[in-house]
Amino acid sequence: MTNPEKKNIAIVGGGILGLSLALNLSDRGYGVTVLEGDEQIGGILVPIRIGEHTWDRFYHVILNSDRALLGLLERLNLLQEIQWGPTRTGFYTDGRFHSMSNIIEFLRFPVLSLLDILRLGGTIFLTSRIKSWQRLEKVSVESWLRRLSGPRTFEKIWLPLLKSKLGENYRITNAAFIWATIARMYAARRTGIKQEMFGYIGGTYSRVLQRMQEVLAGRGVKLLCGHPVTRLRPKGGGIEAELGDGRRLAFDAAVCTTPGGELPGLCSELTEQEKVRLRRLQYEHVVCLVLMLRKKLGGYYITNITEAGFPFTTVIEMTALVDSGLFDGYSLVYLPRYVAEDDPVMGWDDAAVKESFWKALKGMYPDLDEIDIAASTVTRARFVFPVTTLNYSTEIMPDTATSISRLFIANSSQIPNGTMNVNELVALAERKAQEISNQLQGIG
Ligand SMILES: Cc1cc2nc3c(=O)[nH]c(=O)nc-3n(C[C@H](O)[C@H](O)[C@H](O)COP(=O)(O)OP(=O)(O)OC[C@H]3O[C@@H](n4cnc5c(N)ncnc54)[C@H](O)[C@@H]3O)c2cc1C
Repeated sequence: MTNPEKKNIAIVGGGILGLSLALNLSDRGYGVTVLEGDEQIGGILVPIRIGEHTWDRFYHVILNSDRALLGLLERLNLLQEIQWGPTRTGFYTDGRFHSMSNIIEFLRFPVLSLLDILRLGGTIFLTSRIKSWQRLEKVSVESWLRRLSGPRTFEKIWLPLLKSKLGENYRITNAAFIWATIARMYAARRTGIKQEMFGYIGGTYSRVLQRMQEVLAGRGVKLLCGHPVTRLRPKGGGIEAELGDGRRLAFDAAVCTTPGGELPGLCSELTEQEKVRLRRLQYEHVVCLVLMLRKKLGGYYITNITEAGFPFTTVIEMTALVDSGLFDGYSLVYLPRYVAEDDPVMGWDDAAVKESFWKALKGMYPDLDEIDIAASTVTRARFVFPVTTLNYSTEIMPDTATSISRLFIANSSQIPNGTMNVNELVALAERKAQEISNQLQGIG
């Protein structure tokens, strides 16, 4: 609970990171106010209506190795609402579907020769054994994978997988990215025959947001929604936050959880050097067609597309994991495309996204017909995760403290060795709360 001796802290951004940080700082006795620009908290986790149903705007799964997230869910008394289930992974290659859900299927993957498969397996094994991911930051993910796996496996397997998450930014991403991806892949396949196992929250992430709101309110944390912060300035030994409606609020300190590139625009008092570094951050964005279909697809939770020319990069059949009874028997399908800021898809309207993505999906599943679409919608998110370029953690990643006393940064750009998921952000919030608290105690 709030200790009057301690400081009042503003947290800019009410996504899962800002909310977890609020919880952690209030645990340490700080008075906390979360300033969220949207009408509701949650950011990327805010649900959508699709036809008659409500579900997460993007597909979300939990791994049983997501320790920080599971700890948070336990605290929110939501552990019992997680549904766990085995899932399968498919590959769509040369016009055909192949299951790649366990080691036997992996060894039998028909697209590659036995030598290619051994090199692929060797790449995964070797990369997973590396202890110091920092070493991998010095080399591009492309050259790392080409060198270990050979050109054919790179073109047939790695390139489509890299593009599915990074778009054209794969060219500038460092090899720690694949180290983190493999670590998460191993974590998802912990059981006996290495069967992939995922969980989801029955009531979607809106249950987490709702419980978080209740717990934070019970601890005296204030949530101020609907007014974006437009300015942060040092004032009277603390930080003043100006809101979109012109209101000015005084705090002892402020923490920005919003994308790093936004901060120079909010705080003109930062040094030129800091502004330049923050503006060098590049992010992935995402455009996604969400479909409620009258037919099932292939039964794979994720189908990786290893062919060029598709407008989306994977097919996520959510109802391969989630009970379709929740959707009156319909199949819930997401078709995401991760893009760089300047990708033309960012400028497409919803109708253009739907037309192009649907046409390509029909090409994969010729039995599908327009009449099978019970409902559809397009979702978008900007600044989803940072592109980890060469030497990212030493040359680009922002520090927690800024040159402005009591103005701090805690955001996703401070995860140089992860795959960007809720677990990483909850863990980051725990670390940053401790760091900020230490620094504030140092300032006095
Ligand atoms: C397609 C997709 C699939 C994913 N799948 C998974 C998955 O399977 N498992 C998993 O664990 N994770 C998954 N994730 C990742 C996870 O959803 C995100 O990493 C996480 O939700 C991001 O949280 P955040 O708080 O950092 O950012 P955000 O959710 O973006 O929150 C930032 C908040 O700041 C607010 N804001 C911005 N500027 C201002 C301002 N000036 N003033 C006030 N407020 C401001 C925004 O409105 C927003 O609410 C997925 C993400 C995507 C996009």
